[in-house]
Amino acid sequence: MEKLTNLNSILDALDLSPQLWAAGDLEVRTPIDGSLIAALKPDSPAQVGDKMARARQAFGAWRMLPAPWRGELLRLFAAELRAHKQTLGALVTLECGKIYQEGLGEVQEMIDICDFAVGLSRQLYGLTLPSERPGHKMAEYWHPIGPVGVISAFNFPVAVWAWNAALAIVCGDSVVWKPSEKTPVSALVCVELFKRSMKSFGAAPADLMQVIIGDAATGQQLVTDPRVPVISATGSTRMGRAVAPLVAARFGRCILELGGNNAMIVTPSADLELALRAIVFAAVGTAGQRCTTLRRLIVHESIYHDLITKLKRAYKQIRIGNPFADEVLIGPLIDSNAGALMDAALTGAAQSGYQVHGGSRVEVAGLEAGCYVRPAIVEARHQDDLVRTETFAPILYVLSYKDFDEALALHNDVPQGLSSCIFTRDLLEAEIFLSARGSDCGIANINIGPSGAEIGGAFGGEKDTGGGRESGSDAWKGYMRRVTATTNYSHELPLAQGIRFDL
Ligand code: NAD
Repeated sequence: MEKLTNLNSILDALDLSPQLWAAGDLEVRTPIDGSLIAALKPDSPAQVGDKMARARQAFGAWRMLPAPWRGELLRLFAAELRAHKQTLGALVTLECGKIYQEGLGEVQEMIDICDFAVGLSRQLYGLTLPSERPGHKMAEYWHPIGPVGVISAFNFPVAVWAWNAALAIVCGDSVVWKPSEKTPVSALVCVELFKRSMKSFGAAPADLMQVIIGDAATGQQLVTDPRVPVISATGSTRMGRAVAPLVAARFGRCILELGGNNAMIVTPSADLELALRAIVFAAVGTAGQRCTTLRRLIVHESIYHDLITKLKRAYKQIRIGNPFADEVLIGPLIDSNAGALMDAALTGAAQSGYQVHGGSRVEVAGLEAGCYVRPAIVEARHQDDLVRTETFAPILYVLSYKDFDEALALHNDVPQGLSSCIFTRDLLEAEIFLSARGSDCGIANINIGPSGAEIGGAFGGEKDTGGGRESGSDAWKGYMRRVTATTNYSHELPLAQGIRFDL
């Protein structure tokens, strides 16, 4: 199938028109060449309020459907996604600039989480617990909790929503989605496809899935609305710091998926060829704009020189350019502001006396207004504030270590705690890395890079990453409320803790 590379052909292939949105002053530019692809009207505060009210109503109806029926809606949505995988993948590439293979991967992630949620729809189980009172039964029930507000970042414009939405829908909740103001078109298209599955399903309330268009202020309205008991927010730590207290003030629940500063330890026994491939994919994939991007490489001094030399050679071979081109592995940064932040970090590194390799701008013929960069390797001698900060660009800081405890200490001595990994063939090092005194991150891998998680596991991290968990394992519990229920099937009324309270 021929790749579709402009918005009109993508909308045509999906049988959609630009009338999907009202025209306004929110400009959406493709990072590929900076050209305008859409101009949308943001929702007014009154419209946002109205959508919350409708989400509440939809929730009232949706929670009454048996969970396996709710799963059927996701089965239909997964079929819709399978049918349009290439087209939606192209839209992701056009709107956020990641290479087409990664655009396809993002849609595959949506399909995977829908499949997961279909199975989950028959497994939303609670426990039965032994009661201390004779003739009594204790059990846990999990019930739908209410509308779930999803705030998403530009770098995963569709998958992050799907991780949240698939679980929320199967758990019996309605969803209000505030996508990044940089990627709202993908959101509107996804919700249209979702509505098609609702139509085939037949029994879903009309406002089960809604999008609100706007910036941080619109997000803030969602966050402060007491009709939305769960806010799942993905983005920078700065955003999480603004959102968390507002949700806490109204005793709402937050699922926070914030910034990362992910590291790899490479030990003397590591398979260096394997490590090299993992480093390159994790450090430069998505142009360094993944929350799980490899940002710090902690290498044993005995292999430091060898690894750095190989890495510099590998970086030279990487093709940078139009993300639709087959041979290209690095597309553009999201915008020139991201480029300026990268420049500032590299200037700071040079001022600290660190050796900087790469990092310059790349002019791509015909795409001069896009912000293309050569990925950078920085030989940092210390883990200073610069290294401890997440700069959302392809900068890999390399540090060396002498003994394993020093490597672990360096690894954990950053504010963020998302993803981590070690390359070693030493069983003891591997197990220590996974143990209580090892990596302090939510994700810890052995002989695999830190990025590209599977949907089957719970995804998220500690410390400044926010502590939330999404996607697989028991993350679904974040989208439901728990009831502990005790039934007395005897003719006595014994009290717990043996308390006597006789009349
Ligand atoms: P961002 O924080 O600028 O924006 C993310 C979203 O939050 C957008 O929709 C934005 O409009 C909204 N927002 C911003 N301030 C808000 C506020 N005060 N109230 C309510 N909403 C607000 O992030 P970005 O630049 O789009 O994305 C990059 C960041 O996201 C990086 O830090 C990256 O690590 C992080 N990220 C984390 C994960 C994860 O799962 N941990 C996944 C993807 C991206």
